[in-house]
Amino acid sequence: MAKKKKKASMRGKVKKNVERQQSENKGFGCVSLPKGIQFYNPSMGKREYFDIIPYIITDSNHPDRDDENEIALQGDIWYKRPYRTHRNIGADHETVLCLASIGKKCPICEYRKKRADEGADKKELQAYNSSLRNLYAVIPRDNKDYDEEIHVLDISQFNFQKPLNEEIDEDDTYESFAELEGGFTISVRWSEEKMGKNKYAKATSIKFSERDDLDEDILEEAPSLDECLKVLSYKQLESKFFETEDEEEEKATRSSSIKKRKEKEDDEDEEEKPKKPRSSNKKKSKKLTWDELSDMEEEELAEVIESKDLDIDMDDYEDDELNLRIAIAEELDIELPEEEEEEEEKSVKKKSKSKNKCPYGFKFGIDTDTEDECDSCRLWEKCDEEKEGSE
Ligand SMILES: [Zn+2]
Repeated sequence: MAKKKKKASMRGKVKKNVERQQSENKGFGCVSLPKGIQFYNPSMGKREYFDIIPYIITDSNHPDRDDENEIALQGDIWYKRPYRTHRNIGADHETVLCLASIGKKCPICEYRKKRADEGADKKELQAYNSSLRNLYAVIPRDNKDYDEEIHVLDISQFNFQKPLNEEIDEDDTYESFAELEGGFTISVRWSEEKMGKNKYAKATSIKFSERDDLDEDILEEAPSLDECLKVLSYKQLESKFFETEDEEEEKATRSSSIKKRKEKEDDEDEEEKPKKPRSSNKKKSKKLTWDELSDMEEEELAEVIESKDLDIDMDDYEDDELNLRIAIAEELDIELPEEEEEEEEKSVKKKSKSKNKCPYGFKFGIDTDTEDECDSCRLWEKCDEEKEGSE
């Protein structure tokens, strides 16, 4: 009896949840869809089917444009609209459209270049990197959560296009998947990936099956994906970007003076310092190098952790990709460049502390239950234990 009741109570919620996922997806803030068109959000942990519908390119600067091979010229039909985003921009840590990816001057890319020319190190430059995403017009098939109408799929290159490319490389029969005639329905198994608090879907298995030809009229229904990108002006993006830049500079100045002081102290007792055994020769990972690790985006790092079954909790490294990379390098015995080793020492200290660190900056194991934030804190249990233990 009780069981039945429970079952019925999920009615109407699953779909609601899908709607919520949809509205959350809009949080990327770089894409705005024409009225009446909705996002298709992959269901994690499921296999789903959809057709990719071609659209007519309106942008003369389409990122895939290749004059020599006559690819993606204005007026052509094409199946994806690539764009790039910069993350953690401004006081609100927004994800914004990289203006360079639509053929304009991008203040963030310019700043990155300027800092690179000035000799800034890799870890600083990483903060200004952009990541590649794509928009697709799709018709979900046999999916109870979606009508068989045109939707838009907005997903990172890494989570869909890359595995799709690999399939097509392997068998180019499927290259015509998005053609009106002789196309294929795509079937994708979406895995559930985790990055900090965020969950996202990644295509882990892609298959193709022949589908009916699509009517040419569908081209008129398909939204112009080029026009779905929300474009800020150079000035708007610049002021958003430097909003935090000032604060960060302040912080950097502060921490560099602390660092200088610390270096001085370190110099003094350098003699006594026991030489740390470095992992250089034992069990060196042939596959990954620090440079490769440095170039990876969050999602790729998550994948490394999962595939190598590393004992690393991404939650411990939220907004701290550098130390996450260092922790991965440690686990995999990847040699760090010298300057990173310094950071590593800090990070080891930080790591042992961060296990017991209050995410809101209060005293761990002491201020338990004294602040509003305690109610929803993910470390509450550990914090409470610590308090109990010390009492
Ligand atoms: Zn940019």
